[in-house]
Amino acid sequence: MLKLQNISKHFTGKVVLEDINLDIQAGEIVSLLGPSGSGKTTLLNIILGLTQMDHGKIFFDGTDISKLSMKKRGFNIVFQDYALFPNLNAYENIVYGLRNKKGSITKQELQEYIDFLELNPHLTKRIGELSGGQKQRVALARTLVMKPKILLLDEPLSALDGVIKESIKDRIKSIAREFQLTTIIVTHDPEEALTLSDKILIINQGTISQFGTPQEIISQPNNDFVEEFILNQLHIKRNNIYKLFGEKYA
Ligand code: ADP
Ligand code: MG
Repeated sequence: MLKLQNISKHFTGKVVLEDINLDIQAGEIVSLLGPSGSGKTTLLNIILGLTQMDHGKIFFDGTDISKLSMKKRGFNIVFQDYALFPNLNAYENIVYGLRNKKGSITKQELQEYIDFLELNPHLTKRIGELSGGQKQRVALARTLVMKPKILLLDEPLSALDGVIKESIKDRIKSIAREFQLTTIIVTHDPEEALTLSDKILIINQGTISQFGTPQEIISQPNNDFVEEFILNQLHIKRNNIYKLFGEKYA
């Protein structure tokens, strides 16, 4: 449903993305995984339509959308820093994007998203009064009420820890499943990518190191970078992999 073809991008003399090709199926959760500075956010912003690519094409359901504006593409993003409006309360943030889109969502649907993210007790609170996990849920609700054709998330878990991180992770998974929503998630954390996604695109210095399911990446790493980044650098030990994926991959 989303196809990236030969995408390249440079910033002032520096190549940031080189010949990226990717095929994403409807309803899939795909992680863009790589170290800091590898080009993940740039690729996400190119898909969104916020950043222009130098070369390449993007197809959505077979149609070339490379030249379409961000608005016409109809994808939506949760930015890494959430980008909520501090002078509005939680509810006003959630409905902000709907102000020029009357009739695009019923009251009942809006309430379903709010219920799903358990935001009822927080609706009249200012953003400054919310915890990190609550802010993330408001940011998710604000994006979901726009009914995006694709949900884009930039490091959605990086500001959270422990139990909150796990609960938002589960929530993202169930959003994708419940609303049949194709979801692309940027992360630098291999464990996050392995436990959250149907498929993972591993990026190293702007090029694709590997694209595959978590199982494929663990059992058949394409190269030394994948092996080291996934297995060694971030301390994913054999017994954790066993726990995650069973004996076959340990
Ligand atoms: P990641 O999200 O993987 O950490 P980014 O896509 O943010 O990486 O950045 C990739 C590279 O592109 C980095 O070297 C970064 O400094 C550079 N870069 C990103 N945005 C800009 C910009 N607007 N202008 C110049 N360089 C940029
Ligand atoms: Mg980034």
